[in-house]
Amino acid sequence: MKHFNKRVLVTGGAGFLGSHLCERLVAAGDDVLCLDNFFTGNKQNIAHLLGEPNFELMRHDVTFPLYVEVDEIYNLACPASPVHYQFDPVQTTKTSVHGAINMLGLAKRVRAKILQASTSEVYGDPKVHPQPESYWGHVNPIGFRACYDEGKRCAETLFFDYRRQHGLNIKVARIFNTYGPRMHPNDGRVVSNFIMQALRGEPITVYGDGGQTRSFCYVDDLVEAFVRFMATEDAVTGPINLGNSTEFTILQLAETVIRMTGSRSEIIFEPLPQDDPMQRKPDITLAKKLLDWQPAKALEEGLEQTISYFRGHL
Ligand code: NAD
Ligand code: UDP
Repeated sequence: MKHFNKRVLVTGGAGFLGSHLCERLVAAGDDVLCLDNFFTGNKQNIAHLLGEPNFELMRHDVTFPLYVEVDEIYNLACPASPVHYQFDPVQTTKTSVHGAINMLGLAKRVRAKILQASTSEVYGDPKVHPQPESYWGHVNPIGFRACYDEGKRCAETLFFDYRRQHGLNIKVARIFNTYGPRMHPNDGRVVSNFIMQALRGEPITVYGDGGQTRSFCYVDDLVEAFVRFMATEDAVTGPINLGNSTEFTILQLAETVIRMTGSRSEIIFEPLPQDDPMQRKPDITLAKKLLDWQPAKALEEGLEQTISYFRGHL
């Protein structure tokens, strides 16, 4: 019988990032358990892995306890786009907080390493630019984004308390905007929205004046960082920012997508959603130093692959 490297649990494994991570781990010879409740993820994302002997799919909600035997856990389960996480905000907080408690409890019982998919949203609408890990953030605790931002902040608290109290081997990754194939076409995130609108010839909806900034990381680069982070020694806990540090305005992104798709869509301006951060760009000094990592793919290269995925989707 073939033996696989290690047993790895990926929660949220049928989602955008999770499916790419599962693919990478299966190819590396790990024994992968993909867990998902299919709230925003779907079986199509991992259908190509179902026949692999080292891939297993389990329907489960992380807000309920889980008893499995694994060596490593990547905790990605949580809706990530504002449209989805604001659909049922109470469930979003539960997923982050109860989900973290359950997965940390599991890690403690089986002494597994555990990586948390945290977010740049812990910095809120930042007053420090670019954002280093030492910045504590500027988050509205009662706004529409709070269920996600505060849920993820509380999950970080739990990770560090489990570390201090129970000596767990934790890895906290603060992910900045990431894009690529298998993003949900209707999840309202800016890259998927603009590409779908451009391909359909619909108006490109820029919120506010489009002067707000984001830095976009291609999914393969992020997955590489995940795997490197998981492989670090016990003392490397993070938080570590993971993202691309090249910053664009949303208007620049709209113009780039229109040009690259050859679309005749016009740009229209709509109101800026509440608490929408005005600027965001990671300081990735720590990731470069501790993971020997930096993003390799430029925006236009990554957009090309993403546009061709969405063309196929249509
Ligand atoms: P996604 O919505 O595609 O994936 C999330 C997955 O988690 C989905 O498959 C969903 O069905 C599953 N899920 C949600 N609630 C669950 C629950 N209670 N139990 C089990 N499964 C559940 O989003 P994504 O972009 O792949 O994000 C993955 C993780 O990375 C999330 O934790 C997100 O907060 C984090 N993150 C993503 C980005 C990004 O730009 N993509 C940025 C920062 C952080
Ligand atoms: N945005 C936009 N038009 C859209 C969708 C989003 O102008 O159709 C803007 C949004 O207001 C925000 C930025 O793009 O300033 C990134 O939005 P997204 O939801 O992708 O991620 P987040 O705000 O969480 O970074």
